[in-house]
Amino acid sequence: MAKYDTPMLDELEKGPWPSFVTEIKKAAKTNKMSDDELGQLEKSFQTKRGYWKHGGIVGVLGYGSGVIGRYSSLPEEFPGVAHFHTYRINQPSGFFYTSAALKEICDIWDKYGSGLTNMHGSTGDLVLLGTTTEALEPLFAEYSSRGWDLGGSGSAMRTPSCCVGMARCEWANIDAMGICNHMTQHFQDELHRPAFPYKFKIKVSGCACDCVAAIARADLSIIGTWKGNIRIDQAEVKKYADGGMDIQSEIIDMCPTDCMSYDGGEIKINDVQCSRCMHCIAKMTKALRQGEEKGATVLVGSKAPIVVGSLISWVLVPFIKCDDEDFEKLTELTENIIEWWDDNAKPRERLGELIEVKGMRPLLEAVGVDPQPQQVREPRKDPFFFWADSDFEK
Ligand code: SF4
Repeated sequence: MAKYDTPMLDELEKGPWPSFVTEIKKAAKTNKMSDDELGQLEKSFQTKRGYWKHGGIVGVLGYGSGVIGRYSSLPEEFPGVAHFHTYRINQPSGFFYTSAALKEICDIWDKYGSGLTNMHGSTGDLVLLGTTTEALEPLFAEYSSRGWDLGGSGSAMRTPSCCVGMARCEWANIDAMGICNHMTQHFQDELHRPAFPYKFKIKVSGCACDCVAAIARADLSIIGTWKGNIRIDQAEVKKYADGGMDIQSEIIDMCPTDCMSYDGGEIKINDVQCSRCMHCIAKMTKALRQGEEKGATVLVGSKAPIVVGSLISWVLVPFIKCDDEDFEKLTELTENIIEWWDDNAKPRERLGELIEVKGMRPLLEAVGVDPQPQQVREPRKDPFFFWADSDFEK
């Protein structure tokens, strides 16, 4: 195989970094779909045009999500990619696989698809790129019989994702993997059968370092935090200074709320002003640790720029306990948020956009969360206030 000359794609192999072109070329040696994918991609670069089209609904019986239809607009020229559907596998929380599990996934994929994978897609799923409509049912049967379920797509709950959490990270304030798994199991129906106005994403990070970038791209972000004072080991602070760290410029001056001070010997923190950003703790792991009362901040409303502009999350619940027995409280809150959004949103309107239209008040009333200062996203820009009748009654 490998019948195409690809002078433009070859440029993308130059340099010291890995190249997706190299990987497609490897697959193209034995796989006709990958070979034609290479040919079509080269043509796209030559002509500055895309040759993928949407068209038709594809999926597997009993599921509305998980397979994204993709067709070439040049099927005669590149028959190997006439159908090139994407198949999403629900990834394990924290992306933990055994080698045997990865081999199993790849062996099945080699039988039915292009051999190309994307580990992982931006939603979090393990993405398999390129298969035919006829192959979908047998592919699904093989994966599901081995315990690999489909992920979400379309106007559905998208596959929840999380950081590695307590499995590997000493900064995790919450069991991010446990919460993610609980959410995934709880919302199975919503994940597999699209019934929402648009997509709904849940992401869980163990701390404000936010390794899954929840705050920027999830309708519901659960981010670990703490109450109380940052614990300081002044002896370890001294060791950092003796080791050459410039504590003033690297730590104190970088604190976004300006609540730290250093007198050349000890660090002091005005914890009331601390926004729990994690900067100082992440830089001085041995000297600083979070407060002992751990939980999460729940934020809502972020999204990427598709349809209208991007949004960043804002706070809904400043602090919620997240021990195992509290997982149900999180799912109940999530259900209430989704119900309000589902009842009020126009088609293809994300939660954040709906809040921008309606304001935070109706969401707070619908989900039964009290107004709190942390929910204020920015200072008011106008002097008018519209009172509700119930405000006068109170
Ligand atoms: Fe400052 Fe962030 Fe450290 Fe809080 S966690 S003291 S805001 S650097």
